[in-house]
Amino acid sequence: MTLRLEGKRALVTGGGRGIGRAIALAYAREGARCVVTSRRLEDLEETAAEAPNGLVSAIRCDVSDSSSVRDMSDFVNNLFGGVDIVVNNAGIHAAGRFLDIEPETYSELYEVNVVGVVRVSQAFLPGMLERGRGSIVNIASTAGLFESPGQAPYNASKHGVVGLTRCMALELAAAGVTCNAICPGFVDTPMLDGFADLVGAESEELRSRLAQRTPMGRILDPSEIANLAVYLGSDESSGMTGQTMAISNGMRMS
Ligand code: NAD
Repeated sequence: MTLRLEGKRALVTGGGRGIGRAIALAYAREGARCVVTSRRLEDLEETAAEAPNGLVSAIRCDVSDSSSVRDMSDFVNNLFGGVDIVVNNAGIHAAGRFLDIEPETYSELYEVNVVGVVRVSQAFLPGMLERGRGSIVNIASTAGLFESPGQAPYNASKHGVVGLTRCMALELAAAGVTCNAICPGFVDTPMLDGFADLVGAESEELRSRLAQRTPMGRILDPSEIANLAVYLGSDESSGMTGQTMAISNGMRMS
């Protein structure tokens, strides 16, 4: 049986936990060799240890730091001789009333959630352009598609990721490189524990409140996001670019 990502080389940022870990493990199960990066090496090593056949390697990298991204891309390019799939998943969240959130919080989120996508994509695109193929998968959010209460900086940054995805797709299309965005709704990851802390709720109580806001009445498992990321990284999606796809338990319908 041919695996869907056999022979592909992938990079997943923020791959130490949550959605990024689920994507890296799904990629490895489909035969891709994968490097996971994030700020905490311990988490990354856990992801690598869970992967089948040693297909996942770990390297520390802060996507908000250009020299850290350069060191990481040198390491990955030496290890693999380039990558076929870049998953820009690393992201941070903030919550609070608009009037209470300092402007600096916007800069902090923009540096990671938007400029982080730019830094990592620019580091790997020259190789993709040379080979005339490649897939960039940006993890945005439904917060990049419509308003979300008490999350102005996060919402603004994820709208940025959606806009960036479309502009990148347009410029890269003729070279055979695709760029698409996945917009998850509420996903059961450690990010929701941070969200609960920010709004002063218990983690389980917040999860149940968020579930009630969705037509399906539940939050998502990270594997449900990984399934789409496998498709977008595979040749099955070779004709698709510039798309923003919501997986949101029905919160976003179009
Ligand atoms: P998470 O907090 O569980 O994991 C985020 C990962 O990104 C961590 O490994 C963290 O170390 C890494 N990271 C954060 N800042 C980084 C930096 N500067 N450099 C490198 N790595 C960094 O979050 P998650 O829920 O798995 O989220 C993954 C992505 O999905 C994020 O972009 C997030 O905005 C998006 N998202 C999450 C949800 C959700 O409900 N969990 C919903 C929509 C979108």
